[in-house]
Amino acid sequence: MQSPTATEAPIRNSLSLYIHVPFCVKKCAYCDFASSADSGISLELYVDGVIREMELRAELLLGRVAGRTLYLGGGTPSLLPPELVARFITTARERYGLAPDAEITLEANPGTVTPESLAGFRAAGVNRLSLGIQSFDDRMLALLGRVHTAAEARQAVAAARGAGFDNLGIDLIHSLPGQTPNAWREELRQLLELGPEHISAYGLTLEEGTPLHRLGEEGGVSLPDDEVGSLMYGMTAEVLGAAGYEQYEIANFSRPGRRSRHNQVYWQRESCLGFGAAAHSFLRTPPFGRRWHNPLDPATYLRILGTDGVTEEESAVLSRGDAMSESFFLGLRMTDGVDTERFREEFGVAVEEVYGEEIDDLLGAALLQRHGSRLSIPAPLLVLSNQVLVKFV
Ligand code: SF4
Repeated sequence: MQSPTATEAPIRNSLSLYIHVPFCVKKCAYCDFASSADSGISLELYVDGVIREMELRAELLLGRVAGRTLYLGGGTPSLLPPELVARFITTARERYGLAPDAEITLEANPGTVTPESLAGFRAAGVNRLSLGIQSFDDRMLALLGRVHTAAEARQAVAAARGAGFDNLGIDLIHSLPGQTPNAWREELRQLLELGPEHISAYGLTLEEGTPLHRLGEEGGVSLPDDEVGSLMYGMTAEVLGAAGYEQYEIANFSRPGRRSRHNQVYWQRESCLGFGAAAHSFLRTPPFGRRWHNPLDPATYLRILGTDGVTEEESAVLSRGDAMSESFFLGLRMTDGVDTERFREEFGVAVEEVYGEEIDDLLGAALLQRHGSRLSIPAPLLVLSNQVLVKFV
């Protein structure tokens, strides 16, 4: 753990902001995110701490910054009362020049919102809502340990529309225990009835240390095999594509013009400052950028903030090789792929000189395609992206 001692060199381009809210009503059975249902920390105290971090960190930044997105993720940020969310947004505007037209996203659990709280978030300035619905099957929701039913999820969507949200994302999970391709097709049908602007559809993985993983070890649940999982993945792209959604990343789809601007920042290696316990940051400072994360435990995070100020864990200055590798394994997640001209500008070398052999092999196997100055994985083959990405790690 270390304290940043000097001001940062000016960042290239603009800056995005992430705030982590590590609290949940109840821990879901599959979740290994940095979140807790019994931290014993008051929301007000936590928000005070994060705002202090935002203020201290702003003093370390040199030059003008223009904040272009703000994302409140978790955990369950929708547990915060709207007035606390408003304090984050005001601080982001005052200290980080968050633009008037910035995308401001709040992740919400359908079991924690009301028409009043949603109207409050909208009035506070949130203009994009990401709802973690995960399934429309109540038995699956119970197995996953979610705190809401499918009916409550639908009510949350209606309430969000009623509160004026016209940019709504829904997260869904496939490859659930015992799920068949037909059952997943039915999930997609119910999803489309709600007409979200954005969809994230991930396959379930059993993460070590979670109750669902233990249940899997004991033989209590088993996930569909890889072949069935791939079938569901392909079905997702086919059904959502036919309904007018563009696949722009391995697991992300949107109506035209409704991609998540914030999430693209990660895949394009743009700067993002993360605030709050466990938040990760990347600053694209010369020459090749710097990454770190905050203390994972909220109590430790608050204690250090109260004594030493901002602190960083696993701070790493990227080498040229690290940054070139990241450009590929992050960029190739997106259907836009890697811009080889931008690569040449940033690193002063052509991609062929660094990854010529890998690129030739992948082009030969049709796992990579070239259009203009871009290299990308053909969308139908994104299911095989791990085979491609591993070549650049
Ligand atoms: S609501 Fe999200 S962050 Fe919280 S326990 Fe469930 S999956 Fe994890």
